[in-house]
Amino acid sequence: MTKILLIEDNEMNLDMLTRRLERRGFEILVAVDGAQGIEVVKQEMPDLILMDMSLPVMDGWEATRRLKADPKLRHIPIIALTAHAIAGDRERCLAAGCDEYESKPVKFPRLLEKIQLMLGIELQGGDE
Ligand code: MN
Repeated sequence: MTKILLIEDNEMNLDMLTRRLERRGFEILVAVDGAQGIEVVKQEMPDLILMDMSLPVMDGWEATRRLKADPKLRHIPIIALTAHAIAGDRERCLAAGCDEYESKPVKFPRLLEKIQLMLGIELQGGDE
């Protein structure tokens, strides 16, 4: 089963994304700050990471830089989630080492498409 780690401190987003991704057959791991996120990555080696950039303790920018600086972890694709689609945000996320970018509020079908592209897997059922 494909494992996705969701690093997000907003409970509503966490619940929504967990529920909808589980329905698509993914195993979902969660962390609520960047430091915890890195620990879960090391223990569980997820196939993909969804990273909220605005996080307590250690933000998504720092967590991404650390993950991408680690030769054992840098291959794991990271999709950045940011609350404000400000100009240049995408470029900043990619410069920090993220592989993809999605602005909030998350449009689930578009996010799902990016996840599947990153993982190289086919769309499976559902119509949301
Ligand atoms: Mn946040």
